[in-house]
Amino acid sequence: MPSIISHAVVALAAGTAFAPRETPEHFWWISVACSILPDADVLAFSLGIPYGHFFGHRGFFHSPFFGFLVGFLVASVLLHGGEIFSGRWFFYSLYFSLLTASHGVLDAFTNGGLGIALLSPFDSGRYFFPWRPIMVSPIGIAAFIGNWGLMVIKSEFWWIWLPSSLVAAFSAVIRTLLARN
Ligand SMILES: [Zn+2]
Repeated sequence: MPSIISHAVVALAAGTAFAPRETPEHFWWISVACSILPDADVLAFSLGIPYGHFFGHRGFFHSPFFGFLVGFLVASVLLHGGEIFSGRWFFYSLYFSLLTASHGVLDAFTNGGLGIALLSPFDSGRYFFPWRPIMVSPIGIAAFIGNWGLMVIKSEFWWIWLPSSLVAAFSAVIRTLLARN
C-alpha cells in the first residue's frame, strides 16, 4: 500500500474538486474513511487468513466492486428516505464508490507485496499495473521508521501528494471563479 496518509491526501483532493457547496463536515471524514477503508483487511493476518486468500490483504476488499458496494451504502445511509435515487444520491454513490475504488487502483502502482484483486469477485487473480513507481509501504508503524519509511515518503510525495495538491489547488481556483459568476 501507499501509506494511509497518501490515500487520505487523495480523498482531500477529490473532495476539494467535487464536494457539493455547503458541504457538511462529515462529508470530509467519510471521504477520508472511504479512501483508507480497504486497508482494514490487514486484520486478516491476525485472523489467520493468508495474504493470497479471497478475503486476504489486497483481496476482495481492495476491488473496485467492493468500492461500489461501499459507495452505494454510504450514499443510501447519508441520504435515506425520499432522496434515494435522486441526483444527489447518484452523485454521492459515484463519488464515494470511486474514492473507495481509488485505493486498490493506487496500490496497483506500488512496487511490492502481492498484487491487487482488481477483478474480484469475478476473478481472484492479483494484479499490478505494468508501471509501478510508488514505493510499497511496510505493514505496521515500526517498519516505517528508518530508511524504508523515508523512501516511501519521498516516492509518495512525487507521485501522490504533489499531483493531488495541484489538482486541489486548480479545482479551488476554478470553483472560486465559477462561484463569482
Ligand atoms: Zn491497500
